[in-house]
Amino acid sequence: MDILDNLNDKQKEAVLATEGKIRVVAGAGSGKTRVLAHRFAHLVNNIGIDPGNILCMTFTNKATQEMRTRISKLVASGNTNDFVCTIHGFCVKVLRRDIHRIGFPKSFSILDDDDAEMLAKKVLELHGLDRTKKVVEGLRKDVAYFKKITCPNYIMEYILPEAPKYKDVSDFTPVETFIHYQALNYCLEFDDIINFTLHLFNTFEDVCSYWQRNLNYIMVDEVQDCNGSDWSIMNIISDFYNNLFIVGDPDQAIYEWRGALPQSFIDWNCDKTIVLAENYRSTPNILDVANCVISNNTNRIPKDLFTEKPSHDNVIHFHGENEGKEAAWIAQKIQSLCEKSGNFSDCAILYRASHLSRGIEQELLRKKIPYTIWGGVRFFERKEIKDALCYLRLIAGDDDLAFSRIVNTPSRRFGDTSMKKLQSMASEQYLSLYDALRENIESWHNTKSYAPLKNFISLIDDCRELKDVSSVSELLNYVLKESGLSEMYRTDTEVERLENIEELISSIRFYESANNDNEISLNTYLQDIALFTNADYKKDGKTVKLMTIHQAKGLEFPYVFVIGLSEGIFPSHRSMRERKLAALEEERRLMYVAITRAEELLFLTESEGYNFQTSTDKFPSRFLTEIQQSFLIREGEMEESLWKGSKFLSDTIDREITGLMPISRFNVGDEIAHQYLGHGIVIEVSPDGSRLKVRFGSDETSDRFIMAKALL
Ligand code: ATP
Ligand code: MG
Repeated sequence: MDILDNLNDKQKEAVLATEGKIRVVAGAGSGKTRVLAHRFAHLVNNIGIDPGNILCMTFTNKATQEMRTRISKLVASGNTNDFVCTIHGFCVKVLRRDIHRIGFPKSFSILDDDDAEMLAKKVLELHGLDRTKKVVEGLRKDVAYFKKITCPNYIMEYILPEAPKYKDVSDFTPVETFIHYQALNYCLEFDDIINFTLHLFNTFEDVCSYWQRNLNYIMVDEVQDCNGSDWSIMNIISDFYNNLFIVGDPDQAIYEWRGALPQSFIDWNCDKTIVLAENYRSTPNILDVANCVISNNTNRIPKDLFTEKPSHDNVIHFHGENEGKEAAWIAQKIQSLCEKSGNFSDCAILYRASHLSRGIEQELLRKKIPYTIWGGVRFFERKEIKDALCYLRLIAGDDDLAFSRIVNTPSRRFGDTSMKKLQSMASEQYLSLYDALRENIESWHNTKSYAPLKNFISLIDDCRELKDVSSVSELLNYVLKESGLSEMYRTDTEVERLENIEELISSIRFYESANNDNEISLNTYLQDIALFTNADYKKDGKTVKLMTIHQAKGLEFPYVFVIGLSEGIFPSHRSMRERKLAALEEERRLMYVAITRAEELLFLTESEGYNFQTSTDKFPSRFLTEIQQSFLIREGEMEESLWKGSKFLSDTIDREITGLMPISRFNVGDEIAHQYLGHGIVIEVSPDGSRLKVRFGSDETSDRFIMAKALL
């Protein structure tokens, strides 16, 4: 059977359009990636092109593996060669072949995060500057900005042996020294890979023409997420044969925040555009929901997907009274779906931000359902969570492992030498490391670590007293603030760390409230949590897959759960604050990507509780209200007033991002019910409606100023 027989007419047309500049624009699950794989196979099997003359570029390493597998099943020889790769992967091949032209050895190295951090530290030391995490990250950010914005010509200015600033290192700023070191040590950062390749192409005609003449056919998947440099590479290497085949879906553009240019895909001047409209992945019930959501975007070319697949059950919206119930419902659903087959890998759980995995992970561990976090780390193994829990462990009692982890986190200038010295004191004096430090603190007199270590000791001692009178969540909040950890995460470039910490605190609050508030001792909490921190787990095989929606791009699963669908969490309040309405549309495309990962069944879940993103109670996401109600089955009891809260919160967010004054739901004289303070009467409303003065008793001593959003 010819491979073309497995395609519909439009797909076939795309596969057969081998010559020229061709674009395939199509919705999710319509076979774009399938067309790419079949086109590769058609070129090799039917036309006889050597696979070594076809370049097929994908967006991620995972997608590359998937593409190779698909192609090798189709290509007669099974030989798919190395030219199925990511754009970075292709550029590394170009550099390995020709980077010696600019004086670099072919064995140049590529710095990973740790290497780049070490280099930054070395540079800071040379400049006599602080080497705290904050400064190190600051320098790395400055280097990236310098290369991208201040001096895009940095290769010619600093890197080449003949560059004007190659030798003249006097008066170098730390950023310049960093780049100078890269030149001396022949090491590239990730972003340099594309810049160096473009430099080689633009400078050496023969390098450029080698690739142009060798690559007869070039194909690129997920082009809506390519940035300006990616486009330059594609345009240059296809400039000789002019055979460039690109596929994408503007409705799935989810990387504008990182510089992607989806409009370039729409505006591309090509010989032919082929549109695929039939979806082969999802049931009509799922597609109806996807079409509903995405049609709310104003900046889009309207297109609806259809499918010939038979109908299945409607999409379920589950509302949980709290996050525990949301997680329990999901786990129970997974058990019943996979009970017979044991094939947990049929299920994927998708979320907007990685901190949202915590609740469901705990429930899966409790129910012994195997799971894997795709492209990420399990919640209780994340660095910041381990740090926070180690503080608690050290407060709870002598714990040398916990001590070793946190004594220098954040930095107290307590390095390896100090640690060795302390360890020998501890073993000579039969003391724990912490007690040894307390007893021998004067040995650090006259060192830079003396003051921070003294503060550390008094903090831990204070907390050891506090632990009997305050709740675990208060204690953790206190220690994070006083130790400087919160500040360290706040200034961290990865906002995710702070979100994870906030998630940990809010989970402890939930745990306390579920157990009659302050009755949980620190020891009880740590014992309970050990179940999750020390959990054994299967690494691969038939496991439920958990991942962020960004990671799920291009993938498909029979059963998909999109969780944490609360307004402000998804769509993300943080992104919307940063990028306004453009972010809202991108968030909606992300929701569309999430929905369209599902083949058979889709579950959309959310719950009540506290939302630290918006500092309000949680309400269902506006995306749920955008779905025609008849397309959904509702499960879980839910008060109608929550929909009003959702509307009010989304209006408030919209007014905030569009710069309009917030609206006030409250007027003087209104009666309100406060969760903790009870009934009250509004006696004043601030001009912008955000603050209320409320009288909770009979006279003014009972007046309190309350943020209006806290009453949603
Ligand atoms: P996405 O936008 O999510 O990246 P896509 O457009 O790349 O999706 P594919 O992943 O190529 O879509 O295809 C979706 C599913 O539909 C796959 O399981 C694929 O094998 C199947 N499929 C596509 N076209 C056909 C066809 N003509 N016959 C049978 N199955 C098909
Ligand atoms: Mg695809």
